[in-house]
Amino acid sequence: MEKLVCHIKEHSFLARLAARRMNSEQLAMVIGKTIHLHGVTRKEFLRHPWWVRHEVCHIMQYQELGLLPFLWRYLWECMKVGYYANRFEVAARAAEKNTTITNRVVFS
Ligand SMILES: [Zn+2]
Repeated sequence: MEKLVCHIKEHSFLARLAARRMNSEQLAMVIGKTIHLHGVTRKEFLRHPWWVRHEVCHIMQYQELGLLPFLWRYLWECMKVGYYANRFEVAARAAEKNTTITNRVVFS
């Protein structure tokens, strides 16, 4: 199966803004194929398989819909039903238990 090359960006400015908004000390967020981190190092992040699976699920959502359509729908969901009930978050939380979701993923 084809590999999915993903990136990890530590000390991300975007993740810092999101963390402030979410009132969270540690935060990971995905833009395209890059996981942006705030308050957590790449090494610490990768130590939590459930967390990696969650973010990889978001990467796959981007792959499926495309960058802008995903962002648009994600934000629309957040406005309509909020963060927790956002269907992309519901799917990503379910993916936390999916041990095979990272099979194709290679972190650069
Ligand atoms: Zn999420």
